[in-house]
Amino acid sequence: MAQAVVPAMQCQVGVRGRAAVRARPAPGAGGSVWGVRRSGRGTSGFKVMAVSTESTGVVTRLEHLLNVDTTPFTDKIIAEYIWVGGSGIDLRSKSRTISKPVEDPSELPKWNYDGSSTGQAPGEDSEVILYPQAIFKDPFRGGNNILVICDTYTPAGEPIPTNKRHRAAQVFSDPKVVGQVPWFGIEQEYTLLQRDVNWPLGWPVGGYPGPQGPYYCAVGSDKSFGRDISDAHYKACLYAGINISGTNGEVMPGQWEYQVGPSVGIEAGDHIWISRYILERITEQAGVVLTLDPKPIQGDWNGAGCHTNYSTKSMREDGGFEVIKKAILNLSLRHDLHISAYGEGNERRLTGLHETASIDNFSWGVANRGCSIRVGRDTEANGKGYLEDRRPASNMDPYIVTSLLAETTILWEPTLEAEALAAKKLALKV
Ligand code: ADP
Ligand code: MN
Ligand code: MN
Ligand code: MN
Repeated sequence: MAQAVVPAMQCQVGVRGRAAVRARPAPGAGGSVWGVRRSGRGTSGFKVMAVSTESTGVVTRLEHLLNVDTTPFTDKIIAEYIWVGGSGIDLRSKSRTISKPVEDPSELPKWNYDGSSTGQAPGEDSEVILYPQAIFKDPFRGGNNILVICDTYTPAGEPIPTNKRHRAAQVFSDPKVVGQVPWFGIEQEYTLLQRDVNWPLGWPVGGYPGPQGPYYCAVGSDKSFGRDISDAHYKACLYAGINISGTNGEVMPGQWEYQVGPSVGIEAGDHIWISRYILERITEQAGVVLTLDPKPIQGDWNGAGCHTNYSTKSMREDGGFEVIKKAILNLSLRHDLHISAYGEGNERRLTGLHETASIDNFSWGVANRGCSIRVGRDTEANGKGYLEDRRPASNMDPYIVTSLLAETTILWEPTLEAEALAAKKLALKV
């Protein structure tokens, strides 16, 4: 018996699962073209839609249970512990009961998981320990239930190699960095794929849509594909307490962006990872595949990035443009280091075409989207503001990128070696 629960969204293309094709709407139910039935509002305020089956009674009861508000009956809540897996980009999670609602991650117990199943520990010593670090409201379960972002340690208390949060938290607790109150505004781009064929949403299977041009910020069923996913994600992020600041349709059809920030310090990384988790959950329900590959389709199609807008207190104050230029100098001297930390496969994206700069050359400019670093016209005009690092790929780790930006621009001072190396590189190119 096929059963599936999907959110109330109608993706224009490619979410017609096998169950839905066979499904018959229940008599009297408001069936849609794909034989799906709508339920009332859940406790979380999100509609839950169940694919109807031969045994519709079962589906009704399932919806009912998913929407049950447990608060009148028990103090207990469900905490979804979330962590980054062994590839450094995969997200994993599991659930546990907590005896009463919590406000702060310090009230939550540590937990463990089988690291040999996530590529994070050998089988004979497989235990990895989860330390709760930040909590968010759970938009899927509603009520007092929570999502918990965790980082990962050995039983002896050492951060494991894929725990990038630990090092970032050290940078962000350095008094010099704290004093500069670093803000990050991250533009997360992503691509939606039709399941099974792994081809972008809205694209004819085995073929291509018309060339890029009409799709960026577009409306219309022939130009915008997956808006319901983007919108469900937007509301779910607001519900969860994520500092999401906007969304837009992207240049390549089936590609979207949302922005998170400005967020201070380590919070930027936590919020991006939780927002990615929520996006994975929503696309899972919709039967659409999320990819953060920086160049999902070769050829004359835009890649996917994660532009990172950045400022310090001194950059935001009068005279800040001079501080920004000094930061850009430091960034130019550490270009190779930053590129090596900005995401896998980024060389396929940073070609110098499609609003990118070449991966080999550092460049900066005012209002120039073909540069590594862009400074906005407002910042130049006001003499203060922020810079945009356009190099990070969509699959970058925000803990690494944000902490490296802070380190290079606040903690690091140019060395003679760094300057000599940069001069040599430049000389080789000319
Ligand atoms: P773009 O024009 O490159 O598409 P977006 O509007 O998508 O830019 O994203 C800009 C991001 O920069 C937003 O998340 C915004 O909150 C953030 N931002 C704005 N001011 C600052 C600042 N002073 N420091 C860091 N980030 C900022
Ligand atoms: Mn943007
Ligand atoms: Mn964009
Ligand atoms: Mn941008």
